[in-house]
Amino acid sequence: MAEKRDYYEVLGVSKSATPEEIKKAYRALAKKYHPDMNPGDKEAEAKFKEVNEAYAILSDEDKRRQYDQLGHAAFEGPSGGGYGGYGGGFEGGFGGFDFSDIFSSFFGGGSSRADTRNAPQEGDDILTRVTLEFEEAVFGCKKEVNFSRVEGCPDCGTTGAEKGTKPETCSSCRGKGFVVAQQQTMFGYTQTRRACTSCNGTGKIIKTPCKNCNGKGYIKINKRLEVTIPQGIDNMQRVVLRGQGSAGRNGGPSGDLVIEVKVKPHKIFRRDGMNLYCEVKVSFVDAALGATIEVPLLGGKVEKFDLPEGTQTGSSFTLRGKGVPNINNPKRVGDLIFTVIIETPKGLTSEQKKLLRAFDDSFGEKKGSGKKRIFK
Ligand SMILES: [Zn+2]
Ligand SMILES: [Zn+2]
Repeated sequence: MAEKRDYYEVLGVSKSATPEEIKKAYRALAKKYHPDMNPGDKEAEAKFKEVNEAYAILSDEDKRRQYDQLGHAAFEGPSGGGYGGYGGGFEGGFGGFDFSDIFSSFFGGGSSRADTRNAPQEGDDILTRVTLEFEEAVFGCKKEVNFSRVEGCPDCGTTGAEKGTKPETCSSCRGKGFVVAQQQTMFGYTQTRRACTSCNGTGKIIKTPCKNCNGKGYIKINKRLEVTIPQGIDNMQRVVLRGQGSAGRNGGPSGDLVIEVKVKPHKIFRRDGMNLYCEVKVSFVDAALGATIEVPLLGGKVEKFDLPEGTQTGSSFTLRGKGVPNINNPKRVGDLIFTVIIETPKGLTSEQKKLLRAFDDSFGEKKGSGKKRIFK
């Protein structure tokens, strides 16, 4: 299959388009590429399908959100699209003309709503977010996530029929979910498949609907799940739990649970990929003479470091392997890079000031600051 175009691009609207703008763009394009306007034009036919598909997603608040988050992947399944057939995107028609009937005769029953209703459909993916402390992301953790997903109704076992009863085969369509009608149109004699109105395209009639799911066969359930967040995960990265999304229909597989992490900033450390960065304050005496200093590590420990004599402020040093483990290979660990900030002493006693002045004078004319100093 060719690469799918971006739905916004298909409709020629921006990602921030309002529902009204999307509708307007859709109407204009659907008119332009409508089979009635372009008899026998395969390209227009493909465009028409594309436009309808894009509209089916972008006109639905939930689906649009999913698409924004996951792209086309949100609707890709073994059934070739979870948006429930092209019929899903139709407006009542232009000027009261319901063209979904004409449409099905052009594109065959395969794309009509009547057939997709009984076809296996993959369940929806669910996107949820968790916020992690900086350390939790670096070291990994277990997190409880709360989300709601569609599950098969346990009372009726997805049939939608009250316990002890069974859905009956629809007599109008003999269980097929659609009826075939011969029709004379401006393009000649065509066969049209219509969704069976007696059973609403399902092929089954439920006399006594299950009370738990109101005859739908599926219910939305709030779930709580403990999830292992791998060490080394970074802000905005995702953990995908296959099959933990909403239940599929008609034997289709369940969708995925997608957990996006937001990592809180740290008071001391900054992260860039696998490396950590921080600043370490050092007295100007230690910087000048050299000293063993303590560098903070993530997790509360410290590492001793021999600061060389004559260290300048802003100098950076690297502690190898004290950064963030690689999410795919925890044996690979990044570095901790710290920058030395030299602190200028404040609140000196007069004795200390005298010593400092004497120290400065010891450099003589050449090495002193050379500036005219004003002392009290
Ligand atoms: Zn039920
Ligand atoms: Zn029927």
